[in-house]
This record gives sequence, structure tokens and C-alpha cells, in this order.
Amino acid sequence: MCFTVTACSLCNKASNAYQNEDLWCNYCAKKVPPLIRIKFNIQIEDPTGAIEAAVFPGIAETIYGITGINITSTAPGVKK
Ligand SMILES: [Zn+2]
Repeated sequence: MCFTVTACSLCNKASNAYQNEDLWCNYCAKKVPPLIRIKFNIQIEDPTGAIEAAVFPGIAETIYGITGINITSTAPGVKK
């Protein structure tokens, strides 16, 4: 399942801030516009067992060929 995460638009570090408001980044020590990115989990299995792993935005966006902005702007109910 693919989902969006909010990140600092300067340093790309994730934040728990709301997506529609500027956020305070503790790393940059600045209030910045949010950057919407995508992330998803995968399950890797072999005969000995299985693990769940997170695919972080840099790789996830390359695999899907889209960004969080594309997803949120095309979601049902979003005004364009
Ligand atoms: Zn930052």
C-alpha cells in the first residue's frame, strides 16, 4: 500500500506536520512549506521466513515514477 508523508521542503526529512500548513523543521530550524512524498511497505519472503520493510520516498518515487504531489493532486475530491 502506497501512502504520502509530509517532509521538509529544504532537507527532505519527514515530519508529522499537517500537509496543508507550513511546518517547523527541527533540522533546518526554520518554518518551511511542506513537501508531500510517497512511501510504501513491502514483504520479503524466503523459505526461512518473512520480513516487512519500508521503501522510503527516494526509491518509492523512482519505482512509481510519480511524486506525492502527483498523488495528492489527482486524488478524488481534490480541487485542481
Ligand atoms: Zn528541514
